Order: sequence, then structure tokens, then C-alpha cells
Amino acid sequence: MLSYHAIVIGSGQAGPFLAVRLARAGLRTALIEREHFGGTCVNDGCIPTKTLVASARVAHLMRRAADYGVDIGGPLRVDMKAVKARKDRIVAQSVEKLTQWLSDTPNLTLIRSHARFTGPRTIEVDGATLRADKVFINVGGRALLPAWHGIETVPVLTNTSMMQLDALPEHLIVAGGSYIGLEFAQMYRRFGSRVTVIESADRLIGREDREVSREVQAILEREGIQFHLSVHCAKVGPGEGGGIRIALNAGGSAREVVGSHLLAAVGRRPNTDDLGLARAGVMTDARGYIQVDDALRTTAPCVWALGDVNGRGAFTHTSYHDHQVVAANLLDGARRSIAERIPAYALFTDPPLGRVGMSEAEVRTSGRPALVATMPMTRVGRARERGETQGFMKVFVDARTERILGAALLCIEGDEIVHSLLDMMAADVSYKVVARAVHIHPTVSELIPTLLGELAPLGAEA
Ligand SMILES: Cc1cc2nc3c(=O)[nH]c(=O)nc-3n(C[C@H](O)[C@H](O)[C@H](O)COP(=O)(O)OP(=O)(O)OC[C@H]3O[C@@H](n4cnc5c(N)ncnc54)[C@H](O)[C@@H]3O)c2cc1C
Repeated sequence: MLSYHAIVIGSGQAGPFLAVRLARAGLRTALIEREHFGGTCVNDGCIPTKTLVASARVAHLMRRAADYGVDIGGPLRVDMKAVKARKDRIVAQSVEKLTQWLSDTPNLTLIRSHARFTGPRTIEVDGATLRADKVFINVGGRALLPAWHGIETVPVLTNTSMMQLDALPEHLIVAGGSYIGLEFAQMYRRFGSRVTVIESADRLIGREDREVSREVQAILEREGIQFHLSVHCAKVGPGEGGGIRIALNAGGSAREVVGSHLLAAVGRRPNTDDLGLARAGVMTDARGYIQVDDALRTTAPCVWALGDVNGRGAFTHTSYHDHQVVAANLLDGARRSIAERIPAYALFTDPPLGRVGMSEAEVRTSGRPALVATMPMTRVGRARERGETQGFMKVFVDARTERILGAALLCIEGDEIVHSLLDMMAADVSYKVVARAVHIHPTVSELIPTLLGELAPLGAEA
């Protein structure tokens, strides 16, 4: 039996960084990865999708070139092979850099295999048994398929298989109107596909406030994406002349959608079903997520769970923060907790949605006296100059403490500007500090002090 001080299972957005910190601290460490170093974010999540989003935005701007007085001199042609090649190049650079960095780290052994617990802190890889004083689980998750009748009779794409596509789907049907589904929907519409989104809820991105859902839908509809909401009883099967045929009930009306490709974006499930967790004494919840406390300790002694698999975050930055918390507690004598985290994320449609803290619904539920300010992007000079005036900015402030409670910035650069509010929240200072700051002209951020200057009491729900 091979013994290590520490074993990290899975090389997502926490595992590699934690493994390097442990190894550099002198602990004999093994990092076990069954597929690609870097996990979802690098290989079939954030990096490739945002690379494709960038290509799609160029196509979109080229189509709008005449609005800016630019003649592109002929019809637009998107070369999907070249789009994929660009994406593959950028992904490969990231994987190579990460792999090199890990390989160059003394005290760190890289093992390419599926890992499975055989007992408390004993792990089987390729028939060999490894043992460690401490085990860290960072195995992430994978795409769920829609629970539609007949789903097994048709080819279904996921975020992973989409990465191999180098031809344009004639008509892409996206099952799921949330973050991943909408990013793919807009991207492929801009590449030139017909796109239909099917969503079981009565609106898109259901965790956002209704006005955000409405505005995102309106933006995407203006680009020609079709939506079926409140969909129940979908039945799917092969189309008569090929492709995929879906019979569905959308809000009480029977509909039929026939497309060339179907993408599943209805959610994710944790990779815990073949990990032998019961033998290690690691408990999961009913959906398979590993139960952890605020320091990410599992129910088994000396076993931690980081990243999407602990159900406490579903983003690269939350997974990375998990590693910072665990490393600080183990190596720096700190007492950090993931409860310190201010929720923040973005939807990378165009314009993007930058979100931090509470939504309006959460502010109302909290019952605290709140102030609110909203600004349509048509009021923002920089947005008008750039010809991108869709969306709005909305911010909530606690009327008593003057602390920013949350914001939804659905606007150009919303994914960047939101950090000025996030940093104020992290600094735990009054909103008046930003309201009095002098921002650079002409930028979108310049209007954040103006927005905060227009705060008024949050009225009763409309
Ligand atoms: C399409 C898409 C777009 C996304 N876009 C964004 C975005 O823009 N911003 C953002 O913050 N987040 C985004 N995410 C989410 C983000 O990718 C994840 O939150 C992030 O990768 C963190 O994952 P993780 O660290 O939990 O593990 P993962 O990245 O999922 O990695 C887990 C690793 O563990 C390995 N593994 C699993 N089981 C075993 C085993 N038994 N033995 C050995 N190895 C194993 C897997 O092969 C994998 O490499 C996106 C996700 C998707 C799917």
C-alpha cells in the first residue's frame, strides 16, 4: 500500500491549487484525475464557452456593422471549423500550462485514473490501494438529461459533446432556459442556427427577479431565439426526415418542435455515484451532494469536499475559494469559513448579467427596510456611444446600515462593473463611499455613483 500525507481526488478548480499548496508545504501529496487536468471549467465549461461567446459576438457585431457606418463588403460567413479550432487552441494552452505547473511541483505525484474509496482514507486506483492522512474530494459534476419520454431514442448533446461540434446545427433545440442553456442559445443563434429554448418553469433563469428574466428573454427574442415556457409532458423521438421531434405542452397549448440537434442544459449532478463514499463514511444529501460544514469538512474525519460536489457553490470562483479556505485553515492556522463568501456570478449572454448579493425577492423576504435604484441603459452615455443600450442596472441598499445588499447589472460590461459593488460589500462600508467617488468619464461605471444617488425606499411589490 502506497502512503501519502494527502490525496486530492479530481483536478477541478480547487484540487490542483490545493495539491500544490500542500506539496509546497512539504506534504507528500497525490493528485488523482481520471480525465483532463483542469476539469469542467478548463475543458468543457467556462473557458471554451466564453471563447465561443467571443467568436459569436464578433459575428453579431459584423451583422450590425452598417449601424456603425462600416461596410463589411459582402455576406457574413462563419467558419465553424475555425471557430472550434480557436477554442481548442485556447483550451489546450490552459491545460498544457496547468499540467506543466503540476508536473514541476516537487512532492506532488500525478495519477491518471478513476479513484474510488475502499475504506476510511484508503483509495483504489487501477487495482492499487493508496492511503493518506488527509483526503480532499474535488470531483465536480456532469450534465443531467431532461426527464422527457423517449429521451433515450435520440442523440442528446451536453456541454461536453458540444465542444466537438465543428459544423452549424440547422436548428438547435436547447432544453433548459438557465445560465448554460442561454449562453449556448445566443452563441449558436449568432453563429447562424435557428434556436428554440424549452423551459419547464414559467420564465427563464428562475433564481433571478422577474424583471431580469423578462428583459433577458426580450433581448434574446430580438435576436430571433424562440422560447417555449411552462413546458410539461414533453415527448421526444426521431423526426421523420431525420433530426429530432418534440411534442410538448407549453402552458396548456400543444406544440411541436422539430430540430436538427438537441442540447441538454437542465442542470447538473455531482460525480459521487461511483466514488465509494459509503465505505469512507462520507455522507451525501438526497441529490448526491457531499455534506460539509462551513470549513468544508465532510462527515468522515480528515476528509474534505471542495467545489461543485459539496453543493455550496457551482462556479469556478467558489471552487477556487473553497481551496483558499481549506488551505488557510490547514496550513496558515486560520479559522476561515465559506460563510464569509458574498454570492456573486454572471450570466455571459450579451449584454451580460452581473449579479452580487441579494435579489429583490430575497431583500423583500428578509423584511429589512431597503432602498432601491434602477437605471435603464438608454440613460448611460457610454452605452449610447457603443450602440448597446439594452438592459438596466438595479441596486438594493439596507436603509439602516447603508450597506449594499445586492445588485443586478444587466448591461454591457455588467460582469465587470459588478465588482465595484462587490468590493464595497467586502469592505463592509456605506454605499455613500461609492456614491461620492469620482469615476472616469465616459464609462458605464461612471453611472454607479449617479445610480446610488437616486436611491429611494423599496415600495410594495407591484
Ligand atoms: C457549460 C458550462 C459553463 C460554465 N461557465 C462558468 C462560468 O462562466 N463561470 C463560472 O464560474 N463557472 C462556470 N461553470 C461552472 C464551473 O465550470 C464549475 O463550477 C467549476 O469547474 C468548478 O468545478 P469543480 O472544481 O467542482 O470540479 P470540475 O471542474 O467539475 O472537475 C472535477 C474533476 O474531477 C474529475 N473526477 C471526477 N470523478 C473522479 C474520480 N472518481 N476519480 C478521479 N477524477 C475524478 C473529473 O474528471 C474532473 O476533471 C460552467 C459550467 C459549465 C458546464
